[in-house]
Amino acid sequence: MVKKIERCSFCGREKAQTNVLIAGLDAHICDYCVIQAQHIIEEEQATKSKNQFNRIKLQKPLEIKNYLDQYVIGQDEAKRVMAVAVYNHYKRITQPESKPNEEPIEIEKANIIMVGETGTGKTLLARTIAKMLKVPFCIADATVLTEAGYVGEDVESILSRLLQVADYNVAATEKGIIFIDEIDKIARKSDNPSITRDVSGEGVQQALLKLLEGTVVNVPPQGGRKHPEQKMIQIDTKNILFIAGGAFDGIGKIIASRLRTNVIGYSFKDGIRNIDKDNILQYISPPDIRKFGLIPEIVGRMPVVSFLHPLTKETLRSILTEPKNSLIKQYTKLFEMDGIKLKFEPEVLDFIVEKSNEFKLGARGLRSIVEGILTDAMFELPSDEKVKRLNISLSYAEEKFKKTNIAKLKVA
Ligand code: ADP
Repeated sequence: MVKKIERCSFCGREKAQTNVLIAGLDAHICDYCVIQAQHIIEEEQATKSKNQFNRIKLQKPLEIKNYLDQYVIGQDEAKRVMAVAVYNHYKRITQPESKPNEEPIEIEKANIIMVGETGTGKTLLARTIAKMLKVPFCIADATVLTEAGYVGEDVESILSRLLQVADYNVAATEKGIIFIDEIDKIARKSDNPSITRDVSGEGVQQALLKLLEGTVVNVPPQGGRKHPEQKMIQIDTKNILFIAGGAFDGIGKIIASRLRTNVIGYSFKDGIRNIDKDNILQYISPPDIRKFGLIPEIVGRMPVVSFLHPLTKETLRSILTEPKNSLIKQYTKLFEMDGIKLKFEPEVLDFIVEKSNEFKLGARGLRSIVEGILTDAMFELPSDEKVKRLNISLSYAEEKFKKTNIAKLKVA
């Protein structure tokens, strides 16, 4: 009997001419064709992602704000500022080329700084915008950044991340949005320019400034340290929108002192008495940020300054139930998946807010408290077929809360 020669059904190579010949049902494929097929798939995917980011829909500021309202409670001022900045960013990047006889008008981007206590929704705002946008978006933590050459992440690493989010589509990356968290942590420690080098503060600001101003950066596609053998990708940051957030602890004093000086300079009568001292952040302006320790060039490149209100008990209460994916809705859904109808008595919600406030945990604490109250039920009930509903009463919540680590904190 003549033995049939096995060959690749795609290129016809005989088995001996290949490294590997994989057998299928009625066909074979060789390693060369597998690699070729892989390239075709990657090209297809790159075209698809290009189309995904190219289809930018111009959302009006009101639409953007309405979208944010579904997920973020209150913070109207910050939402409005953010909505306008993002809208203008859209307009800027979708602006048609000017006609030959027209004088081109270059619309400058307006990067934003958001100032507000931790846990008031800065990151949430940025994340929610990201969900809505069809432009690449990433969050970078300023505290891990260092000047090039020092241990830590180079400022350029932010661009690697954005490039990855954009599926290596350079054109899309160059129109993306970057949220820089904790920008206040790279403030220089005194108002005077430093004589000695300040690796973690001013140096990083200088490096960041280049990105804000617009520059062409060689970016290692996989991130991390630059390896000489790694092929670099060039990214122009001219059109990338930067949104920075920070708590700026202690900036209240700077604002108050500026207000006092201003008031003395102008009309003393109705000035300072009308100032809402409990929420001094609302008077923030770029000079305060400069005084806090961001270099003037950075402040100049981030001309839009907005603020977030501290969360009141009422806001915390709303955060529990109102957002589209509120905590209570999330836990109700989790129980529903086990066929259990979960209900909270209204005083339990007040209790949760009360405890979060008492232990100064803010909005982040709400989740830990709800989790603490429900852990026993989430452990036991999935194995108990008989239970079809769970009503959380105040006494149940109090008893379960007592057992949590948060409650134990007080004793310590
Ligand atoms: P920040 O960035 O200001 O420190 P986050 O945005 O990370 O704070 O907020 C922490 C968590 O608190 C969020 O995940 C969210 O669940 C909740 N939260 C904070 N502020 C709000 C708000 N205004 N509306 C809805 N949820 C909020």
